[in-house]
Formats: sequence, C-alpha cells, structure tokens
Amino acid sequence: MNPQDGYIQYIINPKSGASSSKWLVSRFRNYLAEKGYDVRVEFTQSLEHACELATKAAIDYQCALVLGAGGDGTLREILHGLEGTNKLFMPVPCGTENLLANELGFDLHLKTLVNAFEGNCIKPLDMGMINEQCFMSIAGFGFDGAVIHRLCQHRTGHISHLTYFWPIWRAFWEHDFPAVRVVVDGREIFNDRGLVFVGNTSRYAIGLNICKNADFGDGLLDVCIFRCHDQVHLIGHSINVIFKKHTDSKSVIYTQGKSIQVSHADGPVYCQIDGDPGPPLPADIKVIPQAIRILVPPGAKPAGLRTRLRRAIG
Ligand SMILES: [Mg+2]
Repeated sequence: MNPQDGYIQYIINPKSGASSSKWLVSRFRNYLAEKGYDVRVEFTQSLEHACELATKAAIDYQCALVLGAGGDGTLREILHGLEGTNKLFMPVPCGTENLLANELGFDLHLKTLVNAFEGNCIKPLDMGMINEQCFMSIAGFGFDGAVIHRLCQHRTGHISHLTYFWPIWRAFWEHDFPAVRVVVDGREIFNDRGLVFVGNTSRYAIGLNICKNADFGDGLLDVCIFRCHDQVHLIGHSINVIFKKHTDSKSVIYTQGKSIQVSHADGPVYCQIDGDPGPPLPADIKVIPQAIRILVPPGAKPAGLRTRLRRAIG
C-alpha cells in the first residue's frame, strides 16, 4: 500500500505490554509517519471500546488499514469489530503470550513488522464463535480453564509469565478432572474425564503445539482431547505435548470440525478463550471461515517452545 490509499487506524491498548513492547509500538508508528502515512491513533479504554473503535474504522472507506497493538484479548475484540467487512488488519504484538500474532509469524522486532507491512502478503483468517463470543486462537476446557479463572480473580493490568505460576500450582493440586462430553459435527466423540482444546491456531501458551495441525484459514477448527483422570495423567500428557508426541497416545483424540459442542455432566468445567475466562458450559462452538483479511510477514512461521526459550535466554 502507499499513503494515497487512505489513513491507517492504529488502535492501541495502553495497558498491554512490558515497556520494551510499548517502545516497539511507538517505533512502528514513527516508521509509518516517516514514510508519509497518515497514522491516526486511538487508545482503548476497555475490550468493548476496542471493538467499537475497530467497527468505526471498518466502515470508513478512507481507512486503508487497521493496526491493533495489544495482547490476545485486545486483538480478539478488534477483529470482532472488523468481522464481516473487507478491512485489512495487521497486529502489533505487545501482550504476554501473543498467541495469534505468533501464529501469524510476528515477533517483537520492528524488522518483522516492516516486512509484513511492505510485503503485501495477505491471508484469510478464520474466527471461532463460542456462545456468541468470538475467539481467535484457542478455547480450552478443564484444567487450563480453571487456571485462567484463578488468575483473573486477582488480575490487574499487565501480567508476566510468572503471574501464572501460583494459579497453575494451586489448580494442579486442587483440580478434580470433571467429566466432559464433546460432540463434533453431530457425533459424540468423547464422554469422560479430561481436558479439551478447540483451536484455530496450532500454538498454545509458551509455544506448545497442542492443536498441531491447525490451519487458521482452512475453515475448520481442530479439536484435541486428552483423557485425563488425575495429576499423574496430566504430567504424562504435558511431557508428550512438550515432545510433540501427544497425538500418538491412545488417550488422546485429535480431529477437526465446523460445529463443536462441549458440555459437562457433573461438577463445573471452566473454559478459557485466548487466555481470558470463557462462557459457562454448555458451549456451542462454530467457525466463521475467512472472517478477516490479514497482513502477515511473508514466509514467517510461528515460534515454538524451543525458539521461544532461545529468545528468552537471549
Ligand atoms: Mg483451521
């Protein structure tokens, strides 16, 4: 694109990100301004406000591109606002996990943002819907839902990976692995105690490859179910996930579908969507194929656990 195509709406969540990623957000803005683009900045006040700002930009024909700077929650709401329009979007990652941006091949380098902006590589992105709420990356039911619910009881503003330690520790000892029933495209495929993941993207927290075959533009959601009755099972599954062997296990079901229902039989089952608390069960999940047009860095791949460890060590 060039500056004559229209202005760039830059939607920024001022609360997201460590100071280094805030610096990235302003450096990219300076880069665009130096190139002669009309960059209009709006700061989000809440997730609903992020969605409103995106909708406003989406229906303005003078807006050529929407940039979203924030974590997964902010990006999700911006994309919710753009859904059903033809407006081009590009993420500027600055959350803790950045599941979606990572999947699309973004990292925290200015060079990658510039490559994406100048590369003109546009891909379609599917959107997941769960009980009328949308999600972009992954919905989890069971253990990880319980972790997120614990985390959010105390959360204020930006969080780091360390923030997860306590909720994971507590949930690990206290979780009692309630039963869940999963129906995919009209067929019951699971009714037992376990953990369920429904993914639009292949990578989960810290780059774990849970829905390993997921393609964010194929019009399908990937479903990965771990039969899991206790803490020992959970540790075994976790090790298999780290070594990318989980789908070889007899107690894992991996499939794809367009319509997925998750319900619980006995105790409450918590749900998380893109790292935020999800709706109460039963959950009715659908996919909106190719809901968004998105600019991605040409040829870039998502970073996995090893790459992310290397980056963290420096
Ligand atoms: Mg897919």
